[in-house]
Amino acid sequence: MTRDLTGDFNTQRQAADQMPYPTLAVRRERLARLARMTKHHQLEIIRAIQTDFGQRSDVEIRMAEISAVLHAARHARLHLWRWMRPWAASMPWRLLPARARIAPQPLGVVGVMSPWNYPWSLALMPIVDAFAAGNVVMLKPSEHTPATSALLKQLVPQYFTPEEFKVVEGGVDIARRFSELPFDHLLFTGSTAVGRQVAQAAAVNLTPTTLELGGKSPAIVAGDADFDKAAAAIIFGKGMNGGQTCIAPDYVLVESRHLSALVKALSRAIQQQRPDDQAATHAINAAHQQRLDAMLQEAHDHGCRIIDEGRHAPALIIDPHQDLQVMREEIFGRCLPVISFKDMQAAIRYVNARPHPLALYAFTNDKGLQQQLLQTTRSGALVFNATLLHHAVPSLPFGGVGESGMGAYHGRHGFTRFSHLRGLFYQSKHASSHLIYPPYRRWLMKLLGLG
Ligand code: NAD
Repeated sequence: MTRDLTGDFNTQRQAADQMPYPTLAVRRERLARLARMTKHHQLEIIRAIQTDFGQRSDVEIRMAEISAVLHAARHARLHLWRWMRPWAASMPWRLLPARARIAPQPLGVVGVMSPWNYPWSLALMPIVDAFAAGNVVMLKPSEHTPATSALLKQLVPQYFTPEEFKVVEGGVDIARRFSELPFDHLLFTGSTAVGRQVAQAAAVNLTPTTLELGGKSPAIVAGDADFDKAAAAIIFGKGMNGGQTCIAPDYVLVESRHLSALVKALSRAIQQQRPDDQAATHAINAAHQQRLDAMLQEAHDHGCRIIDEGRHAPALIIDPHQDLQVMREEIFGRCLPVISFKDMQAAIRYVNARPHPLALYAFTNDKGLQQQLLQTTRSGALVFNATLLHHAVPSLPFGGVGESGMGAYHGRHGFTRFSHLRGLFYQSKHASSHLIYPPYRRWLMKLLGLG
């Protein structure tokens, strides 16, 4: 049976039309409800996510799913009054004494399509920003995390009216029809391939999209780096959620003369951080696990050196051939290729010859190299001497560029993303602008440089 989404959409459209500019109090109260829904049901959320993954670290769920949403909501509640205020824009002298201002205005109905890898936070963090900007929201969570999606479907109506926030469950068919709804903005988080189809569907309605996509995020380790610290940060980023993180370091680049030292440091970091399988997160499903196993097997069959400490710990693949699957597609799992280069310039050329990544990690304190990376590479974010942590900075825009996505959100950037920045022009009573109406005066045109 196919479900008609138009009725749900029209309900929201009417609500947005009836309350085109929710007050600060209304928006703050919606954000408070969103935070309460997350805070009061933490155990159910953890249980649902663990059911979906089979096994997932509860510390990581608290950190990356629950805290992430609570922090985002708190940040928005705190700063919203400032974000909502219109601000002055400068006026060319020719038009003085008129005044210009810019006023953020809600867009109306925002659609959010979320992925399975962080099924709570990647569903709700965009909604924090959409609510802050005064919109109502329809959410289509992932069909690959059915327990978490069912919990969202069950909890959301206890905290929100269907006019404010509606959850639509379903598979690819529903997702496709969801992307065809005439939203005022559609945010999609998922793969580049599906993002392309979502953007095409949205274009029919001229619906603006924010595409939070994936790709291969490199980690460059320069010779001046502290290898133990760099390795620990890389394994933290790769180990989190079993590598199923859009900004996980996908592969490591290092100069040949430092390869052996870095591989030893990475092995030590794996043993320290992932000594057993107990705290590890499993692949989301059997198909995903098989894909990862096949990547490792292919590398093994090609004679690559592999350092594998266990089924769920990061597995190092040293200098794999570029034609292998592990180097051709986003890994999104525990495999970690380590690739050696003659020098840093060759490593930078390698990065620049590929699609722009969502994150570029660089381990170096060399200011010259930092500056070179800043000026000669492109990526959603450029992160020095750490992995993942930039996601927790609400004042940084989070998003990709090129194949890793378009548009960014989080904090004020999310507020702006889901607002229309409306230009306001206030003519003055004392204006002499009527002088430029026809018939055109020669002397005035001369003064304005037009005659
Ligand atoms: P996916 O693109 O395979 O699926 C996302 C959703 O799209 C699915 O739940 C499905 O319902 C829907 N879908 C499938 N076909 C569709 C179509 N033709 N039209 C409309 N919708 C369709 O992604 P995934 O497997 O859920 O997530 C993993 C990907 O997401 C990785 O590439 C990862 O890098 C990326 N990701 C990006 C971010 C980010 O913030 N940039 C965050 C998390 C994950």
